[in-house]
Amino acid sequence: MEGAMQQAAQPGRQSMRDDIIVTMEKTRLAPSPTGALHLGNARTFLINWALARRLGWRIVLRIEDLDGPRVKPAAVDGLRRTLEWLGLDWDEGPHIQSSDLEPYRSAMVRLVREGAAFPCSRTRGELAAASAPQEGVHETRYPKELRPLKWAREFSEGVNWRFIAPEAPVPFVDVFHGPQDVNLSTLVGDFTIWTKRAVPAYQLAVVVDDARQGITQVVRGDDLLDSAARQLLIYRALGLGPEPAYTHLPLVRGPDGKRLAKRHGDSRIDGYREIGVTAERVIGLLAGWSGLKRSPMSAAEFRDSFSLAALPKASAVFAAADDAWLRGG
Ligand code: GLU
Repeated sequence: MEGAMQQAAQPGRQSMRDDIIVTMEKTRLAPSPTGALHLGNARTFLINWALARRLGWRIVLRIEDLDGPRVKPAAVDGLRRTLEWLGLDWDEGPHIQSSDLEPYRSAMVRLVREGAAFPCSRTRGELAAASAPQEGVHETRYPKELRPLKWAREFSEGVNWRFIAPEAPVPFVDVFHGPQDVNLSTLVGDFTIWTKRAVPAYQLAVVVDDARQGITQVVRGDDLLDSAARQLLIYRALGLGPEPAYTHLPLVRGPDGKRLAKRHGDSRIDGYREIGVTAERVIGLLAGWSGLKRSPMSAAEFRDSFSLAALPKASAVFAAADDAWLRGG
C-alpha cells in the first residue's frame, strides 16, 4: 500500500522509498543562557548555521540551562532575539532542558542498572566537583582507585554519579580536526553524569538530547573535543544511535590566549547592538575570523561564501583593533 511507504524518514537514517533515498541531517544550536551571546559563541553558531543552511540540515534550538540557575523566559527571549538579529534562524525549538528531567532520569536508571556508573560522595575537598566543561572549568581527574568496591545498581538522588572511564583510548574522527584517540582514564578519569543537585551533568544531558532530538551533526567549539569521546561512550552504553558526526571549531580567544571572557572587554553581541553597530558589521568581523575577507555582510552572504576547508586551524584572536573596527574605526 502506498500509505505504508510514506513513513517519515528517521533522522539520520537512510530510508528507502521506492528508489529514492532520503537522508535527513539535523544539527542544533545549543546556547547556555548563563552568559550572554558574545563574539566567540556567535561565530560558532554562525558557522553551524551556515553549514546547515548550505547542506540542507534541519536546525534545532536547544537551551542548555541545567548548569546554573533555572533559565528565565526573558533570558531565552533575549537569546532568540540576538540570534535573529544576526540573521540566524532554526526549524525547531527552543527546547529547554530544565522543562522535563524525566528523559535524563530514565537514562540514568538504565546506566546504573547496567553497571556503567557508580555513586560518588567524595566532597569538593577531596576532588574539585566536576562541572560543565563548556564553562572552561578544568575537571579534576577521578582515578579508578577511588571507585567504591561495591554499590547497589539502583539509581538514587542525593549523590553525584560517575561514568566508568575505560582504560583504552576512545577513537573517533572529527570532521574538522581529523582522527582522535582520547584516553579518558588519564585525562579526566571517571566523569560525572549526574549531580547531587538532582540534575543531569552536561555530558549526559547532551547525549540524551542529541539522541532524542535526532541530531546527526554536532558543530561546536573545540574546547569540547574530548567531550565527544565521553558522549560517544554514553551513546553506546545506552544503546542509542545513530551517533552524530562531530565538527569542533577553533575558539575565539583573547590576546592572552585564553578563551574569550569578560576580562577581554565587553564582546557581547547585545553590547555592540546597543551602541548602534549593525549585524552586518558583526558578521563581517566573524567572517574575517573564518577565512573570509573582513567586510560587512549579511548572514546569508556569509553562508554563501564560507568554507570549512578555508577556516583557519588556529584560534581567532579578539584584539583591541577588532573592537575598534566594529565601532567603525
Ligand atoms: N551549551 C554549550 C555551550 O554553550 C554547548 C554544548 C554543546 O554544543 O554540546 O557552550
